[in-house]
Amino acid sequence: VGELMKYVWVNGKLIPEREAVIPILTHALHYGTSVFEGIRAYWSPESNNLYIFRARDHYIRFHNSAKIMGIKVGYGIDELVDATVELLKANEVRENVYIRPIAFVSASTVNLDIRDLETTTAIIAIPFGHYLEPKGVRAKVVSWLRVHNSMFPMKAKVGGIYVNSVIALLDAKISGFDEAILLNRDGYVAEGSGENVFIVKDGVLYTPPTYDSILEGITRDTVITIAKDLGLTVIEKRITREELYTADEVFFTGTAAEVTPVVNIDGRVIGNGQPGPITLKIRSYYMDLVHGKVSKYMSWLTPVY
Ligand code: PMP
Repeated sequence: VGELMKYVWVNGKLIPEREAVIPILTHALHYGTSVFEGIRAYWSPESNNLYIFRARDHYIRFHNSAKIMGIKVGYGIDELVDATVELLKANEVRENVYIRPIAFVSASTVNLDIRDLETTTAIIAIPFGHYLEPKGVRAKVVSWLRVHNSMFPMKAKVGGIYVNSVIALLDAKISGFDEAILLNRDGYVAEGSGENVFIVKDGVLYTPPTYDSILEGITRDTVITIAKDLGLTVIEKRITREELYTADEVFFTGTAAEVTPVVNIDGRVIGNGQPGPITLKIRSYYMDLVHGKVSKYMSWLTPVY
């Protein structure tokens, strides 16, 4: 993760990053009252262009998160896509970046009724490399459970709910692992701290269903879509912990994580302990696609230049 860029977009304006500061009593800082997205844009040396991946889909989810949470965004989906293009152009971005749109309750007040409180919408871009080691990670199924759909709408990507991910990852890291896997209240696999989970068994892909307490990942959807091109079947079904241990391959998907092989879970070697062939095939196709090398999916890419 690199440093911030020259400009950030705040409430419709590009302003210098050092001027984009918030007061100490900001509601979202105290109560986690924000909705956000994580989007990637990839630099393609072949076409000398920067491509934002599935920008519209991310902003649709952003709008849905805001609607669920009762946070006003103030800008339409197309306006936000255009703002993102404008931001990347202003910063003359010619490298891979992570884009962080956020809408948060920016009023300085101690009041849990957010209905009439002021909100701020911002978009920030940062240079970004690998989030997880692409050669494979070791994961721990932590004892903290994923917040259940009945306790909070987990389809919404809300700031405050990320403390569940933070404490899970902390637990995994303290125990010497790279990433956490959280089970849901019923004991089935939910997701990683910031990724969806897939397993491969006898050539078939399995991933937890969206009605379980997971974020409906856009990378998850991308993988389900492209798996068909590779002649693979994907079944959305509940996955148990022992199915993780005995899988042929396991991988994480996420905007930041892309497609990351999981080679060890709770000290059990997955497959032969190396990234599996199906994981690698999907990863390679995904990386080609996001760089604009798969013509069929060019509609998922927003060129910046
Ligand atoms: N689950 C969680 C908890 C996440 O934070 C993310 C990252 N946004 C994902 C799954 C993957 O979602 P996406 O593929 O849309 O980035």
